[in-house]
Amino acid sequence: MEQVTQNRLEILASLAEKARTCHNCALRDGCRGVVFGEGNPFSPIMFIGEGPGQTEDELGMPFVGKAGQLLDKILEAAELPRETVYITNIVKCRPPGNRTPVMPEMQACLPWLRQQYAIIRPKLIVLLGLAATHGILGEGIKMGEAHGKWFERGQTKFMPTYHPAAVLRNSSLRRPVWEDFQKIHEALQGIGEI
Ligand code: SF4
Repeated sequence: MEQVTQNRLEILASLAEKARTCHNCALRDGCRGVVFGEGNPFSPIMFIGEGPGQTEDELGMPFVGKAGQLLDKILEAAELPRETVYITNIVKCRPPGNRTPVMPEMQACLPWLRQQYAIIRPKLIVLLGLAATHGILGEGIKMGEAHGKWFERGQTKFMPTYHPAAVLRNSSLRRPVWEDFQKIHEALQGIGEI
């Protein structure tokens, strides 16, 4: 088991090193560096956001600005401490002015996410915001209808929910997000992971 643990950590670290040299899209020209992702590589659940913001770009870590601090609180309230989950973004480089990444940028970055997925093999994936939802489940999905629902793709279930930054802008989203995280907690209980 120790060998398996070491291998997964090493493979993920090696992938992160490779990603740091990526210039597969123009976003790399306008950011300080690639924000690969962090967390528990053995977690049954992965959270995928939109892209790094200014603080994330400066620190090289995902979800560490105001939205990240809110995500930490939501995770704690749902009895999912941050260190127990894996967190990344659909694009690994900060879009200029924190704009939403466009589909070609998300598609250019997807190979990194696919490799993260292949290494971590989460059973559940939570899509934080519409960009990640559209990039992974397809365009045309409306967050008002899709949030809190599980979408099965192969061995993995995906749930869209509102991005914490949207909750910061609109406090009426607090309740639906809380209800979505209750469902996430229940799903983890259902598969014996809590
Ligand atoms: S956003 Fe993704 S694809 Fe584009 S340069 Fe950064 S790591 Fe590469």
